[in-house]
Amino acid sequence: MLRMSLSIIVLASFVTCSPQNTQTLAEDSIRLPNIVILFTDDLGYGDLGVFGHPYIRTPELDRLAAEGQRWTDFYAAAPVCSPSRAALLTGRLPVRTGLYGRQMGVYFPNEPGGFPAEEETIAESLKDQGYATGIFGKWHLGDASHAYPTVHGFDEWFGIPYSNDMDWVGDPDFDEMRAMLARGETEEGARITATRPNKYAEPRPEYWNTPLIDSSAGGEFTIEQPTDQSLLTRRYTEAAIDFMTRNVESPFLAYVPYTMPHTPLFRSDEFNGRSIGGRYGDVIEEIDWSVGQIRTAIEELGIAENTLIVFTSDNGPWLTMGVEGGRAGLLRMGKGTTFEGGMRVPTIFYWPGHIQPAVISEIGSTLDLFATAMSLTGQENTSGIDGIDLSNVLFGQGNSSRNEMPYYRRGELYAYRLGPWKLHYSFQGAYGQPPDYIKLETPALYNLLNDPSERFDVAEDNPEVVAEIEEAVRRHRGTLEVKPPLFDVRLMR
Ligand code: MG
Repeated sequence: MLRMSLSIIVLASFVTCSPQNTQTLAEDSIRLPNIVILFTDDLGYGDLGVFGHPYIRTPELDRLAAEGQRWTDFYAAAPVCSPSRAALLTGRLPVRTGLYGRQMGVYFPNEPGGFPAEEETIAESLKDQGYATGIFGKWHLGDASHAYPTVHGFDEWFGIPYSNDMDWVGDPDFDEMRAMLARGETEEGARITATRPNKYAEPRPEYWNTPLIDSSAGGEFTIEQPTDQSLLTRRYTEAAIDFMTRNVESPFLAYVPYTMPHTPLFRSDEFNGRSIGGRYGDVIEEIDWSVGQIRTAIEELGIAENTLIVFTSDNGPWLTMGVEGGRAGLLRMGKGTTFEGGMRVPTIFYWPGHIQPAVISEIGSTLDLFATAMSLTGQENTSGIDGIDLSNVLFGQGNSSRNEMPYYRRGELYAYRLGPWKLHYSFQGAYGQPPDYIKLETPALYNLLNDPSERFDVAEDNPEVVAEIEEAVRRHRGTLEVKPPLFDVRLMR
């Protein structure tokens, strides 16, 4: 009921903006808002100027935040790439869709499975409402042709199918490496992976056989292999602007999952040495440039007041990459973990004339983009999804309906947030880093508002809060039908 009344308010505001204001939004599909999702890869909470980085300059993102909303407590739905992307696109937790692994964290090249036909993406839903839909960047939900984004609601795709470090030229591929390890050749496996850090430190495009895909090219869509990764940020930007320009008359969804700043770090010549923050700084400053290009194009097309821009990240910074990785600011740990640094991501909403400029410290999630898009377009049917409509916060009309956030890692609930409180059931560092996995004998409790770095366990002093969260977790589990992990199917073949 709440969602319905908010939608009516949104509809009314569009009707007011429309020159033909006797028409309803549903009758005048041109007035449906364009949605642009700018989705970085492994960008840390502390890596933007507006989120407190002292050296990386991000004037475009700072401006978006000043004129829009900066969300301080916004979460990716998983601490690594593939499940996080699946959650954004479906509005559903990875344990509900099966798009996670207990053994395999993400999808790898030559994956026979991939995004399942029965799951609906935000692109499919918007396409049903007459949207043009495009993805300009990294997919990472399966590289078999049946799993391509063009099969799951996107009219067009320009980008790469998986992470930019997944196809090492001259090294055994995933299946060969698995066979080697099965034969007990662990020393050879270790020798191969030991050469890799040097390649990250001085990356060259020819070290990785990453394909560049353009769905307008026909055939298998691959137009370059290996692609010159230093051009990816620029080419995604140009492709997204070209798409928006071609579709200026129809509502569109432009999903721009940047390849950067996932290592190996690449930037174009123009940004080489631009930042005083080193190569990582160069990469972020080129993304900032890209954001500025996209915002400017939207203004020049005359659709700024009809276009929502969301900027966020798929997970926290890859701390094990040393200076090649980002930082989570004052948050604990990073990518791969369920501490705040792994899943809380720097997020901005921008929509001139509609979004109430503010700093928002309520809870939001990439899970919520699907339900919010449905609300903005007058669709009420969001049953079966975990996301909630954030539009009342965006329009300054009320509080977020999200007061809880589950933190899953590989299908296991490690922690749960309720209001300012976060209860941890298990601890684990990222990718073999300390601490080793430990199921806590008694859960650890942190108050994130006065302890955002999760340093002081206050469970003993707050037994009633622990009990309240445990009740919320019971309710959460009661709503959940957990699907078996799709990423692990490959290991059973
Ligand atoms: Mg990532």
